[in-house]
This record gives sequence, C-alpha cells and structure tokens, in this order.
Amino acid sequence: MTGDLAAGAEWRARATALLGPITDRLAVPAGRKVPYGDLVRLDDHAVRRAGECLAFSDADAGEDYVESAANARRRVGLAVLAGLRDRPGLDPVTAFDEVMADRARWFGDRLVDWLDGLGPGGRGALAAEACGYAVAVAGWVPPARMGDVRISRPGDWLEWAVPGRALRVRGRCDAMTPRRGARPADRRLLVVVGALERAEMVAGHAALAYTLTTASRPQRVTVLAPAEGRTAFAVDDHLLLDALERLGAAAQAAVAARFGPPAPTSPGPWCNRCGRAEECPAGAEWSADRPVRFGGLLPLR
Ligand code: SF4
Repeated sequence: MTGDLAAGAEWRARATALLGPITDRLAVPAGRKVPYGDLVRLDDHAVRRAGECLAFSDADAGEDYVESAANARRRVGLAVLAGLRDRPGLDPVTAFDEVMADRARWFGDRLVDWLDGLGPGGRGALAAEACGYAVAVAGWVPPARMGDVRISRPGDWLEWAVPGRALRVRGRCDAMTPRRGARPADRRLLVVVGALERAEMVAGHAALAYTLTTASRPQRVTVLAPAEGRTAFAVDDHLLLDALERLGAAAQAAVAARFGPPAPTSPGPWCNRCGRAEECPAGAEWSADRPVRFGGLLPLR
C-alpha cells in the first residue's frame, strides 16, 4: 500500500471510530440497501447548520427542497464553464445562450422548470451571475491549462458511506485538476461559495470528503467567492482533524434531530435561509426589525 493510500485508509478508520458510536441508532445490517429517504447526509451545509442552530439542523431539506438562485447560478455556471474550456475563445454570453437553448439536455426537470419561469429580467440577472461564476472559476488556472480542468456535473458528489450506518459523508467540489492521468493524491480541488467567511470550514470538509471517498488525500483546496476572491489551503492533518471534529458535531445534531426531543432554537442571520423561518417564533422575533435585501450585487449565499 502506498503512503497516500495508507493515509487515506487511516482517515477512514478514524472517521468510522468517531462516527460509529455517535450514530448507533442509525445502524443497518451489513449488505442491506437503505431507502434514499432514510439516509442521513452530512454535507458542508449540515456541518455549518450544526454550529448555528440545532433546530435548523432538524429541518429536512430533502423533500422540501426548492431551487434557489445560488444553485441555478452554480449549475448554469458550470455548464458555461465547460463551453469555455472546450472551445477556447468562446465568449461567456454566447456560451450562456447556448446552454439555455439546450437546457433540457443539461439539467433535470426541476431546474428546467425553474429556468422556464424566469422573465427577461430574471434571465438577464442569471446570465450575469452564471457568466461571472464561470469567468471567476476559469481564472483559477492559467488559460493554457484550462483544458486540464475536470468540471463537476449535476449529481457529482464526493460521498463516503459510513460502514454499518445509514449515514453518508458528502462533499462538493466544483472543479479539480489535473483532469486525467493523475493519482488522487496529486489533485487540487476548487469549491465555489457565496462568501469567504467560512472558507477554512468549507475547505476542510471538501478535503475530508475527498480523502474518505478516494482513500487518498488531495494536495490543496481552493475556496473561491466570485464577488470576493479566493484563498487556498494545503491539506494537512490539522485541516482534516478540525473537519472531522465538526463532522462529529454534525452527526450528533442529526441523530438528535431524528430521535431526540425538539432541538433548542438559536436565532441569528442564518434564519434568513432556514426552511422553518415562517413557523419559528424565535426566528420571527429575530428577523422582525432586520431588513433583508434581495438581488443587487450582494454575494449570493
Ligand atoms: S428560524 Fe432561526 S431560530 Fe428558528 S429554527 Fe430556523 S435558524 Fe433556528
């Protein structure tokens, strides 16, 4: 076993040792397929929510999922980026128009419905956001190496199944390089966010999800916010250990949400993106005197 793979296997063992006891109520017999709706998925949103409001952690984002401007920007932006990579010299607005004309091939029904509902103003706003996203990501590598960037497709996740548990560790990665022929340990990852305020948490979670999924840790993770800039993190034990600790807290929150009494509320700015905001007295009280701005050039979260 090479050094990379040995290190990756060690991280899998550490994660299993930490998460197993916390999630014993999510135990499943070996080999049994778990229905999709019964799975708990710990992605970077779950990790972040566990540090904000445990009652927010309790909200099931699965069934109530609705398309958002941020998700549309990412999905459409990734498709525009693929055009820029594959056809050097193509301008982003033309790439956007081509993606929109062929949207039923690019995207699933839910996003297509969302795009179909846009008026001219909404489409113009999306064009600006998606093109800005694609150009920002394209600037991550020198133009001559753009062809070596592997771009995520819809449904691409870094995902590791915790042995014997109805639990998945999920990470997202918008792009990685080199595109082919590289050992997993030689890859550099890029994750795009709305704001850099939690860049280290995002980078750590992506690095840990990659390490658990491929049994080999990546070289670096860059976190990029199109409206702000980017910051890069070398993947070392410190970054992975912090991420594993946060993952443990998120697992505890998820188990408490599923099996425990209603979790306490902790209102704050995150109430603006909570699926329970309309029915939560604490959130309503917190939001009462705080104006919310939509659109404009604010970072999308
Ligand atoms: S509205 Fe705010 S306080 Fe209420 S559950 Fe959501 S995040 Fe928590």
